[in-house]
Amino acid sequence: MTDHSFAARHIGTSTADQDAMLKAVGQPSLDALMDACMPALIRSRDGLGLPQAVTETEAQAELAALAAQNRPMRNMIGLGYYGTHTPAVIRRNVLENPSWYTAYTPYQAEISQGRLEALLNFQTMCADLTGLPVAGASLLDEATAAAEAMLLARRAAKKTTGDVFAVDARVLPQTLAVLQTRAEPLGIDLVVTDLATEPVPAGAFGVLLQYPGADGSILDWTAVTEAAHQQGAIVAVAADLLALTLLTAPGEFGADIAVGSTQRLGMPMGFGGPHAGYMAVRDALQRQLPGRLVGVSRDSADAPALRLALQAREQHIRREKATSNICTAQVLPAVIAASYAVWHGPEGLRGIAEHAAGCAARLAASLMADGVAVLEQDFFDTVIVSAGDRTDTVIATAAAGGVNLRRASDRTIAIACDETTTEADLRIVCDAFGVRLYGPGPNAIPAALRRESAYLTHPVFSSHHSETAMMRYLKRLADMDYGLDRGMIPLGSCTMKLNAAAEMEPISWPRFADIHPLAPADQTRGWQLLIDQLERWLADVCGYAAVSVQPNAGSQGELAGLLAIRAWQHDRGETDRDVCLIPASAHGTNAASAVLAGMRVVVVACDDAGNIDLTDLDAKINAHADRLAAIMVTYPSTHGVYEATIVEVCAKIHDAGGQVYVDGANLNALLGWAKPGRFGADVSHLNLHKTFCIPHGGGGPGVGPVAVAEHLVPFLPSDPMAAAPGPVGPVSQARWGSAGILQIPWMYLRMMGSAGVTAATAAAVLAANYVAARLREHYPVLYAGSHGLVAHECILDLRELTKRSGVTVEDVAKRLIDYGFHAPTMSFPVAGTLMVEPTESEDLAELDRFCEAMIAIRGEIEAVADGEVAVEDSALRAAPHTAAVATADAWDRAYTRTEAAWPAGVGTAKYWPPVGRIDNAWGDRNLACTCPPIEAFGE
Ligand SMILES: *Cc1c(COP(=O)(O)O)cnc(C)c1O
Repeated sequence: MTDHSFAARHIGTSTADQDAMLKAVGQPSLDALMDACMPALIRSRDGLGLPQAVTETEAQAELAALAAQNRPMRNMIGLGYYGTHTPAVIRRNVLENPSWYTAYTPYQAEISQGRLEALLNFQTMCADLTGLPVAGASLLDEATAAAEAMLLARRAAKKTTGDVFAVDARVLPQTLAVLQTRAEPLGIDLVVTDLATEPVPAGAFGVLLQYPGADGSILDWTAVTEAAHQQGAIVAVAADLLALTLLTAPGEFGADIAVGSTQRLGMPMGFGGPHAGYMAVRDALQRQLPGRLVGVSRDSADAPALRLALQAREQHIRREKATSNICTAQVLPAVIAASYAVWHGPEGLRGIAEHAAGCAARLAASLMADGVAVLEQDFFDTVIVSAGDRTDTVIATAAAGGVNLRRASDRTIAIACDETTTEADLRIVCDAFGVRLYGPGPNAIPAALRRESAYLTHPVFSSHHSETAMMRYLKRLADMDYGLDRGMIPLGSCTMKLNAAAEMEPISWPRFADIHPLAPADQTRGWQLLIDQLERWLADVCGYAAVSVQPNAGSQGELAGLLAIRAWQHDRGETDRDVCLIPASAHGTNAASAVLAGMRVVVVACDDAGNIDLTDLDAKINAHADRLAAIMVTYPSTHGVYEATIVEVCAKIHDAGGQVYVDGANLNALLGWAKPGRFGADVSHLNLHKTFCIPHGGGGPGVGPVAVAEHLVPFLPSDPMAAAPGPVGPVSQARWGSAGILQIPWMYLRMMGSAGVTAATAAAVLAANYVAARLREHYPVLYAGSHGLVAHECILDLRELTKRSGVTVEDVAKRLIDYGFHAPTMSFPVAGTLMVEPTESEDLAELDRFCEAMIAIRGEIEAVADGEVAVEDSALRAAPHTAAVATADAWDRAYTRTEAAWPAGVGTAKYWPPVGRIDNAWGDRNLACTCPPIEAFGE
């Protein structure tokens, strides 16, 4: 590795820095450090199977050669994916702007007001368009949103209903496939029926309607909704938001829930994702919403301030009682969709919808005029026609002209129009049918279903329509937030490492971005090669037989992995195995995923050193002997320690007939040095948005591939469109999930090579141990291995200090903002602690700046403990300090303005939080989840 290699740019510390750090840690070399902290039993020395690293330029050239094997076409396939123009002002200022994409999930609300405002715009947009008052801040895709709606319906329906979830036959096929995967382990009886002609099945706790349907049809669902309600069932509608600008809203015809995709609001198709799913509900269901919900509260100066409301961390709190396993969602795509609505405004969106509808109407009229049978007369943007024996010829002729059509059946073709459809496209389609293109056709939306109500009436949707105004609005929001472009984000368990520009650029390349996931295989060779290579590399580096990149978050990878275990056991006739052992320290998604996979969670205790308590493990194994399905362990543990007993734990589970799931979120501590698939695990998920450089995007998108040993390969998730799906159905709606961002990990691995990733792991472990060594005398480091060393993160224990001083972890987290830092992970996995994960990408100066801030804060805590200042009067409790507070004429505090806002070490790059400490409880008592009226902001 030379100094100009990519690895040397990715790893923040130089060799000289590392030597100094090793001294502080008391280790002679990186190898010695790794030997000392990582148990020899788990080490693997057989190399990684990655190709030799190449430079940024060479890697991009190689990737461009793959892209060249994709053939972008004009796509009129539809079925949940549509052409859309990403406005350049949004692409440049949001999608390609590190201030947006490097930010973390907005748990530290005071430094996240920009993305919280963008998400509030998203929620307002979804609520307005669906006619339902409360919308969440994005779900993973339309199909999984529909699955969440199914589960919500089951919780909320009248208790007298049965186990039936009725799905109208017009549902998108990928949605149905995901619903099947999710219904089966929970004992839900999924019934597909034509609800327009058949009654709502007896015992239904919920129904799902598609609006418009997969066949393009739009029906009046009022009577079906009433009938379902009469039986005590909940009505969910999968609705196209663009269509809703012209159609009666689901809330207006009585629906309880609306779900769908926001892809066509500015997000490229990207071969299937990432796209923000949405869910909106009526008031009474707001506390049941899965995922995150942004709400309005107030700060310490009584000014309006935004934060995640209610269930924001619910899997961590409720674990196996959580209603959903969603953690990472789709924040960046949601910000893009919301910005698209801000940019176009209500009239603009309506105009785009009218364009798509007008193209479809014109096409239908032209086809009918020349004798082609159009099967549905009421439609929005999709025309379905009977092509009879000519079906294949018509599709082939259109393709030869550059347009993809959808083969809806042996004898029918569906043609979807969108924002990008041109007259030339329509002409190619008409030519393929051998008909002429005539002038405009009649409006195909029946009068009774035309929307009359207003939407997007909040001023934010009509104030930023010049590019200058839009650029400044996006800049103002971005400036409110703290991302990796400002400084370190030392969040334990989240691996906030560099997202290199060379990795990011290819996601915007049109030859990747503009490919429809259902395009014929001969147009998508480049994508297939990229995915094959990446899946191979990922399998090799973690020692597994195969990987599927389908799951679009870690939580979904967990579900896919557990479903694989379950299906394998069922296949062997072991249908009674349903107990999943989970250590007390586990991430909350583990327990939630196990429940969704139809398993019972049994918690295994941890000992005083933070390790799995082997005595308790034996007891739990014995107690559940024949029922044991699996254990889910995180490695290294969420305590940041390489547990020496992992191999023994795996053996005990296998001896008892169970399977071992290793949560791979902490792979940044293993890559190049140990492989879960080799030290005893059967299955893992990886977080490509942690170890493999996909940015967190402010809370998504992520990718959570599932990796399995040989015997589980047949049980990887299926293609949602497969005619004969495998034993485990799909866990996300697109075959390759969020394919559109897989270029990022591909570039990372291609530029790092085996030596690079191995060096990165050691540098990450060194950084964590360096921070632990520097801070240990100021804050006890909670857990460490036998040599006093940690893995890639360390837990600082504040509980004793809190007892002595009253200063809480929250006070310290907020005070760090004044010092110019994002807080470490708060109170996970242990309440009253901070978990620090510096990653390999930070340089020594930044690590030192962080340590010095923590040491200075320790001094402030000491002053409180010594009684020099009351905790209520301290800078700690008043943190963070806004510019308004620090520069106000009046100043009557126990500390100086300089101490408040310019504490030691804050240079000229001062970050000013836009709001003071936020009152979370007030916001939950006064729940408001759409844009507040402007008057709320006073002057
Ligand atoms: C981040 C994380 C997860 C969940 O991943 P998401 O992508 O947020 O769903 C699971 N387990 C651990 C240990 C994690 O750190």
